[in-house]
Amino acid sequence: MKIAELLKEKVSYSFEFFPPKTEAASSELEKQVGELADLKPSYVSVTCGAGGSTRNRTEELVLKLNQELGIPAVPHLTCVGQTRSDLRTSIEQYRDSGVKNILALRGDPPKGESAFIPPKDGLSYAAELVSLIREIGDFGIGVAGYPEGHPETSDKLKDLDYLKQKVDAGADLIITQLFFDNRDFYDFKERCEIVGINVPIIAGIMPILSRKGVERMCGMCGSRVPADLLKKIYNAPNDDLRKIGVDWAVEQCVDLLKNKVDGIHFYTLNKSQATRHIFEQL
Ligand SMILES: Cc1cc2nc3c(=O)[nH]c(=O)nc-3n(C[C@H](O)[C@H](O)[C@H](O)COP(=O)(O)OP(=O)(O)OC[C@H]3O[C@@H](n4cnc5c(N)ncnc54)[C@H](O)[C@@H]3O)c2cc1C
Repeated sequence: MKIAELLKEKVSYSFEFFPPKTEAASSELEKQVGELADLKPSYVSVTCGAGGSTRNRTEELVLKLNQELGIPAVPHLTCVGQTRSDLRTSIEQYRDSGVKNILALRGDPPKGESAFIPPKDGLSYAAELVSLIREIGDFGIGVAGYPEGHPETSDKLKDLDYLKQKVDAGADLIITQLFFDNRDFYDFKERCEIVGINVPIIAGIMPILSRKGVERMCGMCGSRVPADLLKKIYNAPNDDLRKIGVDWAVEQCVDLLKNKVDGIHFYTLNKSQATRHIFEQL
């Protein structure tokens, strides 16, 4: 089922995983996925590593989760390091394996490179990937949205125009970058309405686990940590911020649900415990 159709019936809860690199990480992930599957998420998604480095492992994990869990698994597909023809092959494989939804992304540059350079015969923007997916199959297509703007585009109005281009190309769902202040999300939703973006917008939530983790993630994606949260993080006696992270995420989720959010997407970082605790408290 397409995620956008599922959202007509209920608020979605989804979990994001990344493909494991080693045998040990693989068995650990199996355990984590099993635990989270008990919570009956609406769907799960599988990232494609920076630089498209995990493409095959993303495909393997998506097919495995689809077959074994009976829960829709959504692959993240990126344009990095791929020609149009490579992308076409991946999309056809997903179509032929019964995958119904794809998250279409431009992708982060490979390790060591600071800017995205479109490969020869490749695509420059996620909007082009959305058009290619639409050409190949009847998929549900998600795209990334940035409540605080994408770090590469300082003009926030332009950024929204580009998001609209992705929706006009055929995306039927937006999943947002993680954010810690719901006001950024509500403002983003309103701005989307103003420019005529009318597809469901799923809120991206990441429970903070450690000081290092939050610094790394925010460094990468540019999300703002509000002063209230920052105070809690820096006043915590050690690096283990699980309780602070879970409590903050619970507050965010309760408020989002009160404000009729379409769905909540948890960046699990392949760790089930924090997400489970959030669920218990909701
Ligand atoms: C939910 C979610 C999941 C993600 N999963 C992954 C993943 O699995 N793997 C990974 O590598 N990365 C992932 N990312 C990160 C994402 O790939 C990066 O943020 C990337 O830098 C941009 O991808 P995009 O799809 O938003 O690109 P685009 O929508 O193409 O935008 C990229 C930049 O170009 C600008 N732009 C867009 N169109 C135009 C145009 N026509 N002219 C000029 N400028 C334009 C935008 O404003 C933006 O600054 C994810 C992000 C989110 C929110």
